[in-house]
Amino acid sequence: MQRVALVTGGMGGLGEAVCIKLAALGYKVVTSYSPTNTKAQDWLRGMNDMGYGFKAYPCDVADFDSCRDCVAQIEKDLGPVDVLVNNAGITRDMTFKRMSKNDWDAVIRTNLDSVFNMTKQVMDGMSDRNWGRVINISSVNGQKGAFGQTNYAAAKAGMHGFTKALALEVAKKGVTVNTISPGYIGTKMVTAIPKDVLDSKILPQIPMSRLGKPEEVAGLVAYLASEEAAFVTGANISINGGQHMY
Ligand code: NDP
Repeated sequence: MQRVALVTGGMGGLGEAVCIKLAALGYKVVTSYSPTNTKAQDWLRGMNDMGYGFKAYPCDVADFDSCRDCVAQIEKDLGPVDVLVNNAGITRDMTFKRMSKNDWDAVIRTNLDSVFNMTKQVMDGMSDRNWGRVINISSVNGQKGAFGQTNYAAAKAGMHGFTKALALEVAKKGVTVNTISPGYIGTKMVTAIPKDVLDSKILPQIPMSRLGKPEEVAGLVAYLASEEAAFVTGANISINGGQHMY
């Protein structure tokens, strides 16, 4: 049976690697993208020219109704979602003193409300079918905090609480809920950081002295989505080159 995997933000650096990995493993892969993303169709064409056969749907993950409509359309077109990867996210970094309410709300809504908004659409179906995987992409900065990221750290830490509570509720239903906490991975989100800051402040924090690769995170997502991971639930798996251990 070909399972359907929905990856939010699949056109971003990490999400794209996850889509490619899951497609290689035989999943029917569908991604969502921001309704404001004008390059979505180009991305989709490029991927499908390479033979991936992805589907893509517009969806603002920060908006509950948008998620409801998007997942309803996906399920109508492709069948029920078996694997949900809550990957879409943004940063609006600013010291707390200077952080605006808009910066706070945007990050909480996009990174944390989105997890509720999307998971809510698929959980009843997963529970009814006695099989499902929800994989939430958090961050090392949700584990340890980070200067200038009260909004992001709060949202990412919130994902851990959500994961553990929901894992308890659906454990008997064959549905697992887990969190992955990447450290610094070489995507646009990180390469946008000025090079001098990367070299002087970020790389020295990482014992492996390098950024992670999106494919390394995708491998973990694939594991958590697999049959072999059926006994892993409520877990948080760090992938950070040794930057933060616990
Ligand atoms: P990117 O900025 O490359 O991708 C983020 C994705 O999120 C984009 O595809 C974007 O879609 C989507 N997105 C943002 N806002 C919305 C919205 N309102 N509705 C729908 N989609 C939205 O980031 P990464 O690939 O680096 O990050 C992916 C995830 O991994 C994020 O949750 C991030 O916090 C987390 N992470 C990343 C780390 C890193 O080092 N890169 C480290 C730790 C965690 P679109 O392009 O269509 O706007």
